[in-house]
Amino acid sequence: MAEMFYEQDADLSIIQGKKVAVVGYGSQGHAHSQNLRDSGVEVRVALREGSRSTQKAENDGFTVLSVADAAQWADVIMILAPDQHQRTIYNDDIKPYLTEGKALAFAHGFNIRFGYIEVPEGIDVLLIAPKAPGHTVRREYVAGRGIPDIVAVEADATGGAWDLALSYAKAIGGTRAGVIKTTFTEETETDLFGEQSVLCGGTSQLVQYGFEVLTEAGYQPEIAYFEVLHELKLIVDLMHEGGITKQRWSVSDTAEYGDYVSGPRVITPEVKENMKAVLADIQSGAFAERFIGDQDNGGKEFAELRAKGEGHPIEETGRELRKLFAWKDDVDSDYVDGQTA
Ligand code: NDP
Ligand code: MG
Ligand code: MG
Repeated sequence: MAEMFYEQDADLSIIQGKKVAVVGYGSQGHAHSQNLRDSGVEVRVALREGSRSTQKAENDGFTVLSVADAAQWADVIMILAPDQHQRTIYNDDIKPYLTEGKALAFAHGFNIRFGYIEVPEGIDVLLIAPKAPGHTVRREYVAGRGIPDIVAVEADATGGAWDLALSYAKAIGGTRAGVIKTTFTEETETDLFGEQSVLCGGTSQLVQYGFEVLTEAGYQPEIAYFEVLHELKLIVDLMHEGGITKQRWSVSDTAEYGDYVSGPRVITPEVKENMKAVLADIQSGAFAERFIGDQDNGGKEFAELRAKGEGHPIEETGRELRKLFAWKDDVDSDYVDGQTA
């Protein structure tokens, strides 16, 4: 059984006694900064020169520093810039100021696991990874709840790294829900596998194929959209509440029987073998190399793939249809429907 920690296992005063720099003010960055501040922690936001995020952080009442100044000032430096930029930020503006006893923290183990960031001795290296998008991390905290975090310690130079990690997790609301102990390797590999094969990659492909099959067979795209995309949320909510069993309990007997007989026809054992190949590429570092290699090449492949995804007919159908809904979702992110590029 995984080791879990709750409110009584973490001492908030540890992080309250530290100066914390949060590098990046995006999805995770704004949530960590605001939750930490509301927990009585001294926070400064670190951004690059001319950053589009500066205005936002300042409007939210934060002092914004350059990354170098923040790294010099802080006891704890949490890196919440995109994974592909972290090694450059670290080498140029953080590493020179890492004096003994400081802590470097991450919300995803990518750069440590694959060796893009190498931290000198004498520094605590922590992972506090909320298992939700940043906007949910903030929303739940404000509502008095929290998102489960997973925490790890790669280097415990001070002997206090675990207590510091748990204290940080408490300050962002994680121990309200429960915190699970892991390692950088386990977090990185399972996170990448989950998002690639099931959550993002697998689900997106499944939805697109479902939409293609129905529309190619002559059904209306709007109806196809509802059946394969819109309703997905309702099904996933049930799984989230009570596992696959609750989902099957709630749907009709017809749907449940169809689940049993047709699910394995669509997702064949071959798919499981494909998943294993994806996992192997994550473990070997081949995926990381491809991602970072493309980034070093200006992110050309990434941009092409994004444009191709945005061009899929289901996107246009959904965009038009969502405008016609009588209700509007509470969307508290910066995303503007139809304008991602
Ligand atoms: P975002 O893409 O939302 O963060 C972008 C922020 O980083 C912006 O404020 C951006 O500022 C800033 N930034 C970009 N480049 C630099 C730079 N060179 N120097 C300083 N700041 C920079 O990132 P996420 O929040 O999605 O991810 C952050 C980390 O959290 C990653 O390690 C990710 O894996 C992890 N994570 C993310 C989750 C999520 O919900 N998204 C969930 C769990 C973990 P600018 O305006 O200048 O571009
Ligand atoms: Mg991830
Ligand atoms: Mg139906």
